[in-house]
Amino acid sequence: MSRGATDVRSLASFAPDELAAQLADWGFKPGHAARVLRGFYASGGQVAPGQAPWPAGLAAKLRALHAPLATLAARQVAEDLTTKLLLRLGDGRTVESVLMPDYRPDRAAGCVSSQVGCAMGCDFCATTKTGFERNLTAGEMVEQFLALRAEAGAVGRRLQTLVFMGMGEPLLNLDAVVVAVERMASNALGALGSRQITVSTVGIVPGIDALAAARLGVHLAVSLHAPDDATRAQLLPMGRRFGVGEILAAADRYQASSGRPVTIQYCLLREVNDSPAQARQLADLLRGRTMHVNLLRYNPTGLSLRGATYAASSDAAAGAFLAELRARRVVAHFRRPRGRDIDAACGQLRRRAALAAAAP
Ligand code: SF4
Repeated sequence: MSRGATDVRSLASFAPDELAAQLADWGFKPGHAARVLRGFYASGGQVAPGQAPWPAGLAAKLRALHAPLATLAARQVAEDLTTKLLLRLGDGRTVESVLMPDYRPDRAAGCVSSQVGCAMGCDFCATTKTGFERNLTAGEMVEQFLALRAEAGAVGRRLQTLVFMGMGEPLLNLDAVVVAVERMASNALGALGSRQITVSTVGIVPGIDALAAARLGVHLAVSLHAPDDATRAQLLPMGRRFGVGEILAAADRYQASSGRPVTIQYCLLREVNDSPAQARQLADLLRGRTMHVNLLRYNPTGLSLRGATYAASSDAAAGAFLAELRARRVVAHFRRPRGRDIDAACGQLRRRAALAAAAP
């Protein structure tokens, strides 16, 4: 007999007290819930892993209950061992998660999505081309984390850090992101530690304040991408709603309340936002602020929504931009490019899979 939808549920969607109640309903001691969930999170999503003695029948009950929320649909591994996972959700939609090996041989960083598609419309982003479909649940985000943890473990690495920087704007799905982070960071569950987690935003000012109010202790990264409102509004429609000054003021508030330095993300686009004058303008904005600038090299994604074709900055322009920042005592680095030989930009693998499925 097939299992009905109400008979199954992913362990990733349970809070510890909910699972304790479920175990009690089955006639087991509720106290086993903590061990069940610890094993599930530590193993990267296995149910009752290992040979530990369980009360008779409990492991079988748990395996019958557990139905994953996300299953692997495609996997790409780059020459630098960056691994991109395309995960299929229960409703057939797909999301991307990425594992990036650290320069230390035993560590890796993960990147998870918070929404299916994205409504933000950033003009240089592949995700935005398919539009927004829906928010992810906390359990779906936890399962991405577990898939990345398992992927890292399989190659002898530990998932050391996690960023909410995949598909979607996390601060527009904040309630679910908060629950997911709490589970990932909890010592009794994911045990990742909030300092190892970064939430990235395109600059949703009320969302930054709400994240601060949630007191998760995570890092915040702000995708600025331009030092002035006009250039920013051309690249990011959200730039018309929240100005650069307003966003940096919210970042200041976040930094003051969390004690975590904010990272400014800046993707260098040839002859759009990469001039020495724009670097100086960015340095002026950051004067007196202890924010770190992460410079990103652009992965081309084809024709943009507005018909533009963006290109990565030349090495000379990128180097000059960095030098201008550093000359003004801004702490800035290039983020190491990842997975250049695969669909490295956010949304590319998903888009390619969707096009292939639609092809006659
Ligand atoms: S860059 Fe991020 S916020 Fe902007 S459209 Fe892409 S996924 Fe959405």
